[in-house]
Order: sequence, then C-alpha cells, then structure tokens
Amino acid sequence: MDTFSRLIDSFPCSKLNVLCVWPRYYSKYPPLGLLKLSAYHRLRGDMVQLVRPPEIPEFTPDVIYVTSLFTYAWEKVKEAVGYYRHLFPGKPVVLGGIYASLMPEHAQEEIKPDYIWRGIVSELEEILPDYSLVPGWKGSIVFTSRGCIRNCPFCAVPVLEPDFVCRSSVGDLINKKYNQAIFWDNNFLASPYHQEILEELINIKKAKRYFQIDFNQGLDARLITPDNAAAIASLRMSVVRLAYDSTCHRKALKRAIDMLCEAGVSKKRFVVYAMFNFEDTPDDFLSRVQDLLSWGVAVYPMRYQPIDALKKDSYVAPGWTPELLEMVADARRVLGVHGAWPSYEALKRKFLDAPDLRSALILRKPKEVVAI
Ligand code: SF4
Repeated sequence: MDTFSRLIDSFPCSKLNVLCVWPRYYSKYPPLGLLKLSAYHRLRGDMVQLVRPPEIPEFTPDVIYVTSLFTYAWEKVKEAVGYYRHLFPGKPVVLGGIYASLMPEHAQEEIKPDYIWRGIVSELEEILPDYSLVPGWKGSIVFTSRGCIRNCPFCAVPVLEPDFVCRSSVGDLINKKYNQAIFWDNNFLASPYHQEILEELINIKKAKRYFQIDFNQGLDARLITPDNAAAIASLRMSVVRLAYDSTCHRKALKRAIDMLCEAGVSKKRFVVYAMFNFEDTPDDFLSRVQDLLSWGVAVYPMRYQPIDALKKDSYVAPGWTPELLEMVADARRVLGVHGAWPSYEALKRKFLDAPDLRSALILRKPKEVVAI
C-alpha cells in the first residue's frame, strides 16, 4: 500500500463510519495520530468516534484504526484489537503507531490486523489534529520537524523517521484556543528554522501572556547558542529539558546550562534526563548524577529499554544487576519529585558523598512506631 488515500479508497463505501481505538496503555498525552486521522476523515464528511476499550461506539464502523505506542505495551494493543474485532467481525482493522512501525512482523504474527501502517502518514502532516475527540485536553501538540540529524544507537527515531524534514513556521499548527503548545520535535534546535520559530513563539506570547511552551523531547545541549538561549529564556516554559546520556557530553552540557542561565533561565526549571542501563556502568551513571546535582539542576533517571523490548524493564545491561536497577526505581519513588531528583541540599550530599551508586541509593528504613 503506497499512500494513505489508496488505503481509504480500498474501503467498500464512500462515506465511512470511522472508529479510532486508543488501547488502554498508560499515556499522558492524547493519541495524536488518531486525532489527525479524525480531522482527515471529517474533512471527507465521514463520521468519527474515539474509544478506549471497553467503550462501545454509537455506530457500526466501516473501518477500525488502532494506534500503538511502546513495543512493551503491545499486549494492550492486542486486547483492544481482539475486543473490537469481536464486536464488529469482518470490519477492516488498520494498525499503526510506534510498535506497529518498529515490529510489524511481531504485530502481524500476534495481532493479525488487516493492514499495518508503518511510519508517519505524510498526507496527515499538515493537518490540524481534531482535539474535539479529547475534550479534557487543553494544548496544541506540534511537530515542526521529523527525524533527527543524529543517529544515537539507543534511539528509535532514526528507524521511525529516517529523513530529517523541517517546516519553516509553526503558526498554523497552533490552536488559538489553547494556552500551551507542546513540541514533539525529536531535535528542535537542529532545524535550520528554529530561531525563526522561536521568534514566532515570542510573538504569540506577546499576544497571549500565559502562553506556555514545552519542548517535550528535550533540547540538544550541543546546539544551544547565545541567540537561541536568549529566545528560550524569554518564553514561558515551566521545564527546560536537556539530556546527559554519556559523560562525553559533559562539557557541552555544562556550557549549555551556563549559557541558558546567563540568558535568564532559572536553574529550578532544568530537568536533565540521565539514561542508565545502556552502555554505561553504575559508576558512570553516579558521576553524571553527581555532576548534575552539583550544577544545581534536577536529574531525571531514565532506564534504557531496547527499542524492540516486549516487556518493560526486562533488559539488564552488562555491569548492572536487577537489584541495583530496582534500587534506582525505589530511590526515584521515595526521593524523587515527579520521578526526578532535584538538587536539594540533602539529596545532593547523599549522592556527592557516596563512594558508589549502591551506597547513594540506600534508603533509610522508616522509624519503628513504639506503642506506649
Ligand atoms: S539526538 Fe535525540 S532524537 Fe536524535 S537520535 Fe539522538 S536520542 Fe534520538
């Protein structure tokens, strides 16, 4: 199947009842692909409904689109497909999304949809998502670029979006009703248009004082410059996300943090993702955590999962043990704020004074309550 419109033409009627299925895996964000599909079909005059199992639609669908997310959430996708197939036997099921794109053979074997859509749907790139399907959601989700200039060995982006393609403007992707825009660009600063887009955002903020921005996938520290730092500092961003995945980026990251701080970004706003359980060792991870806490920024430990993992948290890298990985998870739960370790004095001392990661992660047992 070459293009999306050819897929649509293969369905038996001209006006369609379109069922968009969002499987019941955890997701903080609405299913953008389905919202775009909905907008596309509504423009054709089709009826669309979004459901999560066990919700039952008000019509009998002519086509059932099911999205997918992380590979390790595939069983929820299988459940969703099985459920709606049972309700509407014989109706074509189209499976798309990240898992379907990364592991089409596995999806075919386990889920057996009628069609698997791999990668992005280029016909939907310019379309505004149909946010009416998620009435509680109050933000624009935008991509001003696809792909990435880098080829990090742990990342799915080079497989999912092999070409780096950029838009020169963001204006028409932002829904004017909302006070926030969430950028899902994999590497926003790699776009040759990023400075112009930052200026656009500054202008929107002038008109809408409370307009919030989130570069949700993080900013590439190696691409921070005095100009983009100044523009970033003048936006309303509750979090500035960066990454520290390898000690070889130490100098570039410190330079980026300093540059952003000089431009006016408060240290409290930084959250730096620190991947572990990849090719690092526990000592290497500890030294990155120590760097970040000593620089006064929050650390968000991020456990590496292979891009084809079928079970979450099942991979243990050489040098790591399941017990140590569990200790990191516990320390995030107990010491963390929304999963991150802030650079609070006591926490900083705990990590900076520790001879090794295990000692840093030991949690004090709660005091016993003595009955009087
Ligand atoms: S820079 Fe980010 S998006 Fe690009 S390949 Fe590396 S991890 Fe993936």
